[in-house]
Amino acid sequence: MDIDFDRYAPRTRHELTLAVPDAPIAVPVIVIAGSRPRPRLAVVGGVHGDEYDGIQAAQRLARTVDPKTIDGTLVIVPIANPNAYAAGQRISAIDGIDLNRVFPGHAQGRPTERLADCLCRSVLRHMDLIFTLHGAGAVTQLAWYLEFFDSDDAVGRASYEAAVAAGFENLVAFPPTKGFLLPSLGALGVPVIEGEVGGRGELHDDNATYYLARIEAVMRHLSLQQGKADGAARPRIWRTQDVQAPVAGILRRDVALNAPVQAGQLLGQILDKDGGAVADLAAPVAGVLGGFRAHAWIQPGELALRLFVQQQR
Ligand SMILES: [Zn+2]
Repeated sequence: MDIDFDRYAPRTRHELTLAVPDAPIAVPVIVIAGSRPRPRLAVVGGVHGDEYDGIQAAQRLARTVDPKTIDGTLVIVPIANPNAYAAGQRISAIDGIDLNRVFPGHAQGRPTERLADCLCRSVLRHMDLIFTLHGAGAVTQLAWYLEFFDSDDAVGRASYEAAVAAGFENLVAFPPTKGFLLPSLGALGVPVIEGEVGGRGELHDDNATYYLARIEAVMRHLSLQQGKADGAARPRIWRTQDVQAPVAGILRRDVALNAPVQAGQLLGQILDKDGGAVADLAAPVAGVLGGFRAHAWIQPGELALRLFVQQQR
């Protein structure tokens, strides 16, 4: 299914359903056509089904934006992975796949790969900017930040400028990585920014309100809405470096979120069934603690701690 975004009459609102070919998946899409077809901004929530603040922000945006106030086209996908959402979990309930690991998808692949392909072909690759709304999932806590497509070309520059305009205090340069929405669409020539707000499977109206304000700042930046873009005075720019658990056990964390850490500093330990430490988790580099696993039980290879490491730009 291809949506012709140029066919909508000015100042109209449309509720579509994207039916994924040969998969039992249907994705609601709201198109708000303003006074002119471009620029086109897509706001996408629910790529992970258990990140609720972004889903609520997208739903509130879809309910409240008046097409008469838009100079361009706003495309809202409140819940990109409806069956993960319906199961209250991060990954697809149909095939157990994480949607944000299979972009740009595969038309002949498994259901979640078909979903990624359908989202890309029908919606995402036709945009001038994509803003995806993530959170920290059900078992993680992250500092709030915004990732941008980090490349040395016009797509990277447009992604970075949109990220600055959004008004987050922390920006994370996202390198080319296979399977993720952000670099996959960036490689297709579409600027992308991706937020991380909230987490632990919780829903907070304040967080959704914060997200909405960031979306509105990006809409002003794109001239989709009137007003001056008012980004953060000077966001800090990071890359992330993760520390994984080497063994299963209970994670005991010694450092608070947003605290600075030195290279080699002990950040926490994995405890065994007797309460003794079986692994030390040390900082591989200096940085700031940007996130951690909040549910203390952890399996080998899972994210224990995420560091923000200073990035020059
Ligand atoms: Zn997510």
